[in-house]
Amino acid sequence: MKARYQLARRKADELIESCKIKSAPIPLEKITKRLKIRVEYRPFSGELSGMVHMSEDGSAVIGINDHHYPNRKRFTLAHEIGHYLLHAEEGFHIDEKSPIAFRDENSGLANDSWEVEANQFAAALLMPEKFLREDFRKLSHKSAEDAIDDLADKYEVSTQAMSFRVQALKMLV
Ligand SMILES: [Zn+2]
Repeated sequence: MKARYQLARRKADELIESCKIKSAPIPLEKITKRLKIRVEYRPFSGELSGMVHMSEDGSAVIGINDHHYPNRKRFTLAHEIGHYLLHAEEGFHIDEKSPIAFRDENSGLANDSWEVEANQFAAALLMPEKFLREDFRKLSHKSAEDAIDDLADKYEVSTQAMSFRVQALKMLV
């Protein structure tokens, strides 16, 4: 199955809109509350990033590895929300190893379309294009590297995630 990029992005945009979010950082607690998702932070062992259990009644529980850094936990949470909105038929999903690394949409590694969709959703949710273009423009007096650092701080994502996002949106040209 081919990854549904447009659908993933649209779902993220709809959520930003319906939760009336106007600026970064994106308040993920507000979003999970609205979706009636319970979030549990647990000290999972190994490289387990997160998991989501989706019930037929529409409720869900997301588990996040509390050992990970805050920015990574945010990305994992956004990624699991993506599975909830896009892949509820799966029922239970677990993300082990490092599936939540940002991958190039066209890279050979990005072969699991559900993972690609969840990552695309997470990027669009945490770094909405509309907000990002505006914030990036305000930093036009800075070098690209400094601007990306500032934006990563503001959006509470890793510098790597921000760098990929800025490149994917072709904002550096
Ligand atoms: Zn996943």
